[in-house]
Amino acid sequence: MASTGRAVTADLDHAATTRLRPEARAAMEPFLDDRYGNPSGAHALGRDAVRALDEARERIASLLGCAPGDVVVTSGGTEADNHAVTGGLPARPGVPVCGATEHHAVLDVVRVLGGRTVAVDALGRLDRDGLAAVLDDVTGSGVEVGVVSVMLANNELGTINDLRAVADVVDRHAPGVPVHTDAVQAAPWLDLRVHAAPASMVSISAHKFGGPKGVGVLVVRSGTTLRPLLHGGGQERNRRSGTVNVAGVVGLAAALEATVRDRDELSIRTAARRDRLARGLSARVDGLRETVVVDGDRSHLLPNLCHLMIDGVDPEALLFLIDDGGVRASSASSCASGAVERSQVVDALAATGVAVDGAALRLSLGWDTTDDEIDLALDVIPAAVARIRAHADTVDVRG
Ligand code: PLP
Repeated sequence: MASTGRAVTADLDHAATTRLRPEARAAMEPFLDDRYGNPSGAHALGRDAVRALDEARERIASLLGCAPGDVVVTSGGTEADNHAVTGGLPARPGVPVCGATEHHAVLDVVRVLGGRTVAVDALGRLDRDGLAAVLDDVTGSGVEVGVVSVMLANNELGTINDLRAVADVVDRHAPGVPVHTDAVQAAPWLDLRVHAAPASMVSISAHKFGGPKGVGVLVVRSGTTLRPLLHGGGQERNRRSGTVNVAGVVGLAAALEATVRDRDELSIRTAARRDRLARGLSARVDGLRETVVVDGDRSHLLPNLCHLMIDGVDPEALLFLIDDGGVRASSASSCASGAVERSQVVDALAATGVAVDGAALRLSLGWDTTDDEIDLALDVIPAAVARIRAHADTVDVRG
């Protein structure tokens, strides 16, 4: 979006969700209107929906580097993750294994199924020696490993995992076990045809890259065994029953196409804005540090993510005050029911010895972020921190 002068609000919570891209809105509109057919319908309107779905599926497949038949439409990232980790109903035999900083859509499923988690290093990257040890431990006890799920990029820190190296560890220590990656946060910024290629299952969610909410994809590459999670009408070649959200899939395809078209240039601009924001806040606020950045090196991060720790500040008060100043951000993962509590990601970093006292603040930029929004954040956040610290002895800064 073009610069429009002094911004009155700044959305720095794009990792939570993004504005619909105009391309997605335009592509969806006919399917919210005259072209409302059910693809299962045995008439012209139904056939029209099938054609639209097939065409969207082909475009999505070519943008993700898979075959059209590998694309399973879901209701979003959460369902795609649940499906991949469980393996469908009844749950896949074997112990599921995942990283300790996975989104709850993976982590909680692994826990429910009695699985194992693997630590991360101080930058938030999966500890691959730790993965090897967990795989050896499980297989050594005579039990199968069911799946290994490692996110391509973390939703709080922006840390990118090297999936090729992860898949190599799995090949050596648990050959034949499927690797799943939650690429929900990576999809707007990384070429999944390359970065997600080593995974046999890949989750994405449209609303993180300018598509509509409530629609996503689980890529299931051929040769990967997956039973359905939802049973019913047998849609999606029997892998996911339920009437397909045609408008949503068409919108997802259009948003993904626009994302891939703009990605190289947008990534450079976004990283420059993010760096200016991070450096500016570090210079203006004492006791503020970038949580997983050492010596200014951000090369292991998505270009849009900035995770900060701020000493001597209550996270809830900080979010409240900056929101009051027009800046939207988040502390823990926004999916944690709005509660501001220490996340599993920060806990996993704490286990490596990273200092995690104070308020965690996640600032995430998106496809429509402007320089003016960065300027506003550079004014509002230091002022909010100063106000909280000045009132440290009063009970409620919100009064
Ligand atoms: N995985 C990651 C890494 C996410 O960031 C999110 C959303 O915050 C999800 C999964 C869930 O996706 P959805 O909101 O489409 O269910």
